[in-house]
Amino acid sequence: MGLSADEVRTALTIIAAWRDNAEAPAPCPHCRTPGLTIVDRSARPYAEWYHLSCAACGLDETIHIPLGPPVMGGLD
Ligand SMILES: [Zn+2]
Repeated sequence: MGLSADEVRTALTIIAAWRDNAEAPAPCPHCRTPGLTIVDRSARPYAEWYHLSCAACGLDETIHIPLGPPVMGGLD
């Protein structure tokens, strides 16, 4: 099983929220069931890796977030 581009974007949002508050239940980016397991396997400062697994739908994915220089300006 893989995640679609939309689901990867959702996963990044979920990971960001999880990093702010790891106590809050995270929803699965695939089936939306709360209780997603997130494991931080990052190799800082080079990259961040998060392993996501969901007991409800069998999701088992690793999300890679490259760490680059801060992006200046941009999205508006
Ligand atoms: Zn799921």
